Amino acid sequence: MSYNSIVMSVKFQAVRGTHDLLPDQTAHFQQLEARARALFGQFGFHEIRTPTFEALELFHRSLGETTDIVEKEMYVFEDRGGRKLALRPEGTAGVVRAFIEHHLAQTNPVCKLFYIGPMFRAERPQAGRYREFWQIGAEYFGNPYPEADAELLLMVQTLYRALGLTDVQFKLNSLGDATCRPVYRRALTDYLEAEKPGLCEDCVRRMAKNPFRILDCKIDGPRLKNLPTIDSFWCGDCRIHFKAVTSLLEKAGGQYVFTPRLVRGLDYYTRTVFEVSTSSLGAQDPPSSASKEEGLASKQERSQGALAAGGRYDTLVKQIGGPDVPALGFALGSERTLDALKAAKTQPAASRGVLVFVAAQGEETVPAAFQLLQELRSNPQLGERHISVEGGFFQKKLGAQLTLADRLDARYCVIMGQDELEKGEITFRSLKESTQTRIPRQKLISHLLDVIPAEAGIQP
Ligand code: ATP
Ligand code: MG
Repeated sequence: MSYNSIVMSVKFQAVRGTHDLLPDQTAHFQQLEARARALFGQFGFHEIRTPTFEALELFHRSLGETTDIVEKEMYVFEDRGGRKLALRPEGTAGVVRAFIEHHLAQTNPVCKLFYIGPMFRAERPQAGRYREFWQIGAEYFGNPYPEADAELLLMVQTLYRALGLTDVQFKLNSLGDATCRPVYRRALTDYLEAEKPGLCEDCVRRMAKNPFRILDCKIDGPRLKNLPTIDSFWCGDCRIHFKAVTSLLEKAGGQYVFTPRLVRGLDYYTRTVFEVSTSSLGAQDPPSSASKEEGLASKQERSQGALAAGGRYDTLVKQIGGPDVPALGFALGSERTLDALKAAKTQPAASRGVLVFVAAQGEETVPAAFQLLQELRSNPQLGERHISVEGGFFQKKLGAQLTLADRLDARYCVIMGQDELEKGEITFRSLKESTQTRIPRQKLISHLLDVIPAEAGIQP
C-alpha cells in the first residue's frame, strides 16, 4: 500500500476521553443551561466567560501542589513563546484571576458570577468521567456571612429540584480555618502514625502532604473507621458559622446531611464544603471504549455519583495576589447531571419547536420560493416562537419534497406552484391532518402565527 493510501485509510475518531455532543444531546445541554441561567439570574449572578487555558502557575497556586488535579490530571503544554500553560481543569482559578485582574472588588460591592464551559482533566475515562467535560459553576465574592453559604446551597438545590431530580443528597461539612485546621491536622497525623504500616501507597504519600485526603481514600477511608473528624476540633468561630449555615438551611426548607468526613479534593477550601450526589448513577457500566492498556475501573471507582461540589475559599483571592476578599463557589458536572436525569427518567423531552417546510413546483417558481424561505427564516416573530423553516430542495419533484418534509417531521408545508405564483398565493398544507388551503402570500406569516400557538413552538 502506498503512503498516500495508508493515510487515506486512517479513520479519525474523537480523542480518547472526549466526546461529541450530537443534536439530541445538545438539546438537553441547552435546556440544562437555560434553567441554570434563568435561576442563577434570579439569585443575582451574572455570566463571566474566561479563557480555556491559563498560566500553569495559576493552577499551582490556587488548587495546591498536592491535589490530584495538579499532580496528575492537568493538560500542560508550552506555547511557541515557551510559556507554560494548562488547559483549565476547573473554573474557579480563572474566575478569581479575572476578578483580581479587572479590579471587580472595587467596582462591585457584591460580585456574583457564573460560568458555563468545558474543563479538561487527564484522568482515566469511565462512565461519567471524561477528559473534556462541561461544568456550570458560580462564584460569590465579598460575603463572609453564613447567609452566603446557605444561599449558594439553596441555589444548587433549587436547580436540581427544578430539573426534577429528587434522589439527591447534599453532604455538608466545615473544614475549619487557619485557627483550627492545623490543630486537627496534627491530631489526624498523630492518629495515622500508628496506622502507617497498613496504609495504601497513596495514603503514605498523603500523610506528609495532605493527610485530610486519607479520609476519602477509597481503600483506607472505609477501613479506618475511628479516624478523628474535624468537627471535634472546630474553633468557636467555625462552629458558630457552621451552625448558622445549617439553621438557615433548615428555616428555608433546604436539605443537608452533615458529613464530617467530607474533605473535597482541593486545597483552597475554608470552612463550608459540600457535595451533591445521587444514587441513580451508581450502577453504570464503563463505556466500551475503556481499553485494556489502562485497565478497567474497579466497581467502586465506577460509581461516579458526585454531581456537583463546592464550598468557601476565604483566603484564595489573597493567595493569588488579590485583595483580602472572602469567596465561595460551586460547580456541577453537566454530563453527570444529565446522566442522572436520564437514569431517573425525568429528562424533559427535547423539543425542536415546529417545523415549516417550503416546497416549489416548477422551475420558474424557484426564485419566489427561495425568497419566501428567506422571508420566513428572517421573521423575528416566527423566530421568537421557535418556528424553524426548511426548504431549498426545489429541483426535486414535488412528491419527493413532500416526502422529505414528512421525514423531517414538518408540521406544515408551504407550496409555491406556477398557479400560486401568478395569483400571488401559496398552498398551505397541514401534514398532520392532510388538509390544504390556498391563502394570499401576504397573509402567510399572520396565518402561521394563528395556527401555531405560542406554546407549541416554545422549547420547554
Ligand atoms: P470526582 O470525585 O468524581 O473526581 P471531583 O471532586 O474531581 O469529582 P470537582 O472538581 O468538584 O469534581 O468537579 C465538580 C463536578 O464536575 C463533579 O461533581 C462532576 O460532576 C464533574 N466532574 C469532575 N470531573 C469530571 C470528569 N472527568 N468528567 C465528567 N465530569 C466531571
Ligand atoms: Mg476528580
